[in-house]
Amino acid sequence: MHPEVQEQAPGFCPVCGMVLELVGVAAFPDGDQREYREYKGLKRRFWIAFMLSLPLLLFNMGEHFILDNRQLFLFRADWFSWKEVQLLLATPVVFWCGCPFFERAWVSIKTKSLNMFTLIALGVSIAYFYSLFITVFPRQMTSFFGGFFPLDVYFESAAVITTVVLLGHMIELKTRLRTNQAIYQLLNLAPPTATLINADQTEVEVSTAAIQVGDLIRIRPGDKIPVDGVIVQGNGVVDQSMVTGEHIPVEKRMNDAVIGGTLNNNGSFVMRAMKVGHQTLLAQIVDMVAKAQRTKAPIQKVADQVSAYFVPLVIGMALLTFWVWLNYGPEPSLGYAVFTSVAVLVIACPCAVGLAVPMSMMVATGCGAQAGILIKNAAALERLAKVDVVIFDKTGTITEGTPRLIKVQSLKEVYTQTEILRLAASLARGSHHPLAMSILKAAESHHLALEDCQDVQAIAGQGMTGSVRGKTIVLGNQQLMSLFNIDISVIAEQIQADCRQGYSVILIGLDGELVGFLTVADNIKVDALPVISSLRKQGLTVVMLTGDHTQTAQAIAREVGIEEVYAEVLPQHKYEYIHTLQAKGLKVAMVGDGVNDAPALAQADVSIAVGNGADIAMATADITLISGSLRGVIKAKKLSEYTLKNIQQNLCLAFIYNIFALPIAAGLFYPAWRFLLSPAVASVAMTLSSLSVVLNALRLATLTDWRR
Ligand SMILES: [Mg+2]
Repeated sequence: MHPEVQEQAPGFCPVCGMVLELVGVAAFPDGDQREYREYKGLKRRFWIAFMLSLPLLLFNMGEHFILDNRQLFLFRADWFSWKEVQLLLATPVVFWCGCPFFERAWVSIKTKSLNMFTLIALGVSIAYFYSLFITVFPRQMTSFFGGFFPLDVYFESAAVITTVVLLGHMIELKTRLRTNQAIYQLLNLAPPTATLINADQTEVEVSTAAIQVGDLIRIRPGDKIPVDGVIVQGNGVVDQSMVTGEHIPVEKRMNDAVIGGTLNNNGSFVMRAMKVGHQTLLAQIVDMVAKAQRTKAPIQKVADQVSAYFVPLVIGMALLTFWVWLNYGPEPSLGYAVFTSVAVLVIACPCAVGLAVPMSMMVATGCGAQAGILIKNAAALERLAKVDVVIFDKTGTITEGTPRLIKVQSLKEVYTQTEILRLAASLARGSHHPLAMSILKAAESHHLALEDCQDVQAIAGQGMTGSVRGKTIVLGNQQLMSLFNIDISVIAEQIQADCRQGYSVILIGLDGELVGFLTVADNIKVDALPVISSLRKQGLTVVMLTGDHTQTAQAIAREVGIEEVYAEVLPQHKYEYIHTLQAKGLKVAMVGDGVNDAPALAQADVSIAVGNGADIAMATADITLISGSLRGVIKAKKLSEYTLKNIQQNLCLAFIYNIFALPIAAGLFYPAWRFLLSPAVASVAMTLSSLSVVLNALRLATLTDWRR
């Protein structure tokens, strides 16, 4: 959270007390295990604290509210005093379960940056040690205090505060653990092994890590490309969606560059490795994601901000109370001074603060999940309400991402549109190319009976050929037509116009003659336009960043009402663009679906992945819209606004009872009514504030208007 902080060994941030993120990728597998161990450790501490605090809480509440039920306890009072049982229960909670907080509080004092941990450690240790003295030296304490005070103990406060704070931190650490998944999924994009061609032309399977610059590697159909390089022999059709976000494969020939991690769909070739290890584009993407996650804009928690002012204030008040009672209090003045200043410190430590944020987040996360919005990083919900710019990826985010047949045209009277579609689909059957699939899908929806095709041949990057009823049929792009000497000049203009719209045109020739063509487009999602105009109405800037061609991008942007468009951008450009916006002080939300969006998603203040996209996008993003409907962006934003308000209310509730109890603790009512604070009051204040925080957080679930 504080990027300027870099330590040699794993640990926690001396400024805010949060666990440090590892720098770089090499250290990750180990680092992840360490975080996992830490999470498991925290979980164990929480459950032990919970089991020990529960009897403390129940019996204390019973004691104060119902009747003297000490006899109900397993140990009879004459065997074992209740205070000592409390001591036994609270000691492991405070010192073993709460140990991590004490460490952090100590660091916060050393670095003079007070935070929530300082407040908690202070309150817990004062409550514990004061109670310890009363339990171990009851006689001495009675004479010290002159026998005026109910010598009750605060063990329950100390234990419950520790438990609640442990719960909050367990939830947080779990969130952080999940973000590392993105890095692993990215690393797994490169194949673990590759086929190396030796100088004597023999081929061996080697680990990808062993590939050197200049090595020759054979790539077969269906192989993943291991490292960055150039083709030196053969050709292929490569799915480069990792880089561009476009799922339509690209043809690659001699001297073309290929990128490690992309998939060769068709054809086979030999490539020369040009960049290996940390130089590859994939490694750079991984680096960007890791770096962005580490340096994510600092979210100093509201609770920390409040604590930073609250700690010195409370200490000041305790000192003042001590001084006033020592100088102006009745005899024994030292006894009164100690009693009241301890009471001030204990009552001021609001245990509900630790509950205020996690409770709202937990309820909001549950509500989101019901509405198809998976919130992985709850803190992002706090930030979403405040974003200034929303950036959308194009393919798969604003558009469906899978091409669909939108138009079939016949150029010869003898063939109807249906006939053209039936011919095209008959040949396309068996191909897994996205364009062929779109034709097949259309034929299926029209229930067309397909014909048998013989001698079907796929021509990489151009289309396919075959024969139907003895006629040669050719289906593909302009290059394929010229390869078969088919004249397409009659519709050349139309093709151009369609391409400008961002459509793909598939031509169909029969026995050397052009008979028709099919137009395929990536449809815009139905809710893209209303969602984008609603965001703009809320005063947000909406931008489109895409790896696709400028013409297509602009055509789509016009239709959905986006004015600012950046096309043909690589993953690192998306990332850098967000970085420059943030440097201007803007809060950025990114909505994307592909591997190519991962660095940008990681860098954005709030990242939203569209469901049915790449796993890595979902692993990187803070929020996933399961249905893929963009309406989720609006819903999430509204939910975020409600959650933020709810957190603020919770913080008020967490402090308010304690603030009201402070004057009693300081002994303000003593001169008039001889009334001093008893632990009962502290207990009531604590229970009431926690209860109202929980109830208010649950109220969040009853708000439903954001779901529409
Ligand atoms: Mg995309």
